[in-house]
Amino acid sequence: MTIAGTMLKEALLIGVVIYACSIFGIYTAPPGVLAAFWPANAVLLGLLVRRDHPPGLAHWLAAAAGYMLASLYMDHGWAKSVMLACTNMLGVAVGHILLARLDEAHQGLRHPRSMMRFLLVVVGASAAAGVSGIFVNPVLFGGSHAYGFAFWFCTELVSYIAILPVMLTLPDARRWLKDHRRRADWPQWRLEYLAPLAAFAGSLWLGTQLGGPGAIAYPVPAMLWCALSYSLFATAGITLLFSMWTLLAIASGTLVLGASVDSPQAIMSLRVGVTLTALAPLTVASVMVARNELLERLKYAASHDHLTQVLNRSGFMLRADGLLTTPHLLRRPVAVLMMDIDHFKKVNDSYGHAAGDVVLKEFAAIAQGCLRAGDLLGRLGGEEFAVLLPGCVPEDARLIAQRICDAVARHGMPVGDGQLLNCTVSIGVYSEPQVATPIETMLSAADAALYRAKEAGRNRVMLS
Ligand code: GH3
Ligand code: MG
Ligand code: MG
Repeated sequence: MTIAGTMLKEALLIGVVIYACSIFGIYTAPPGVLAAFWPANAVLLGLLVRRDHPPGLAHWLAAAAGYMLASLYMDHGWAKSVMLACTNMLGVAVGHILLARLDEAHQGLRHPRSMMRFLLVVVGASAAAGVSGIFVNPVLFGGSHAYGFAFWFCTELVSYIAILPVMLTLPDARRWLKDHRRRADWPQWRLEYLAPLAAFAGSLWLGTQLGGPGAIAYPVPAMLWCALSYSLFATAGITLLFSMWTLLAIASGTLVLGASVDSPQAIMSLRVGVTLTALAPLTVASVMVARNELLERLKYAASHDHLTQVLNRSGFMLRADGLLTTPHLLRRPVAVLMMDIDHFKKVNDSYGHAAGDVVLKEFAAIAQGCLRAGDLLGRLGGEEFAVLLPGCVPEDARLIAQRICDAVARHGMPVGDGQLLNCTVSIGVYSEPQVATPIETMLSAADAALYRAKEAGRNRVMLS
C-alpha cells in the first residue's frame, strides 16, 4: 500500500475510534459528574504518540471529524459541537507536543522517573483544556470562568491518568506474536500468579463491606503487589480498573464512604484523589521494568563473551550443567566438541590483534551457523570454543564437527586491506549414549581428542 493510502487508512481508523469513544463518553455520563468519564482525548493522545511517525494533518482532521460527528449526532448543534471539539483538540495537541518531546523509554513509562514526566505532560494537557473551559463554560453552561477551568482540568486529568498509561504500555501486537519466548513461557504458568490479582479483587470487595472514607485506599497494597508481579501494561489495566470501579461504586452506593460527596468541589477532589492513587503502583511498575531490563543486560554481560557474543566460560558451564540435569535429557545421548583455531598466534603476529579479533568473531558466527537451536556454543578462552550437543548420537556429532571444520576452511576471513585469510580449526569430539558424565569431564575427554587432532596435522576432527 502507498504511504498516502496507509495515512488515509490510519486517519479513518482514528476518526472512527474517536467517534466511538465520544459516543461512549456521552452515553455513560450519569446525571452527576462523579463517574463522568471522557476517554476520547486520552485514547487519541495515546494513538497519536504510539505511531511510528508524527501525525499529519489528515490524522488531526479525522479526529476533529470524529468529535464533531458524535456531538452533532447527539443534537448538540454546530456552535456547541465546535466549541467542545476545540477544547478536546487543544488539550490533546498540547499533550502531544509535550509527550513527543520525551524519549521512547519515558513515553513507554519504562524509566524510574517516567511517571513524574508523565504527570507533567497530563497536567499540561489538562490545563490547556481547562483554559479553553474558562471561555467555553459560561457560554455553554452558564457557569463561572473559574468553575470552567476546574471542571475541565479535573475531568481531563482523571481520564488521562486512568487511560493513557494503558495506551502507552500496550504491547505491540505483531511484535508480541512474533516473540516465541513468550509462547514458550506458557507451560511454566502457575496458578499462584493470580494471587496478586485475587488480593486486588478481595480488597475491592472488602472496601464495599467495611465502607468509610479510608476504604478508597484499601486496594493500594494489592495494587503494589500487582506492580511488583505483573507487567507494566497489566498494572496500568489494574489501576484503570481501580479508578473506574471506585468512582462507579461510590456513585451507585456500592461503596459507602460515610461522608457526603455532593458538592462539585468534593466530587472533583474525590475523582482526582482516586486517580492520583494509581500513580504509586504505576511508578513501582516503571521501576520494576527498568530494574528487570538492567538485570537482563547484566545477566547477559556476565554470561556472554563481549567480542563474539557467544557464551563465555562460566555462562557455558552454567547452561550446560542446567541442560544436562533437565529431565527430558535423561537417558538421551549427548556430545561435546572442543574446537581450537589452528596457528591462531600467527594471525595475530602477521595481521595484528584487530585482525585476530575479526577471525574470532567470524569463527563464532560460522560455528553457530552449523548448530541447531538447542545446541550450546561457548568461548572457553582465547581461541578455544566448546559445543554441547544435547540428544545428539555419536555419528551426528562427528558430522556436525566435520561441517564446522569444512565451513571454516572454506571461509575467507577479512583481515584488513581487502585481504581474505583462510584459517582452519581442529576439533575433538566426545560423545556418550546416555547423559552420565559431568560437563568438565566430557570437556577434558574432548580436549584429549583435540590434542590428537593437532598432533595429526590440524584441520581435522578426532573422536575421543
Ligand atoms: P595451535 O594451532 O597449536 O592451536 O596454535 P595457536 O597459535 O592457535 O595457539 P596458541 O595457544 O599458541 O596461541 C593462541 C593465541 O591466541 C595467543 C593469544 O595471544 C591469542 N589470543 C587469545 N585471546 C585473544 C583475543 O581475544 N584476541 C586476539 N586477537 N588474540 C587472542
Ligand atoms: Mg589454544
Ligand atoms: Mg590454537
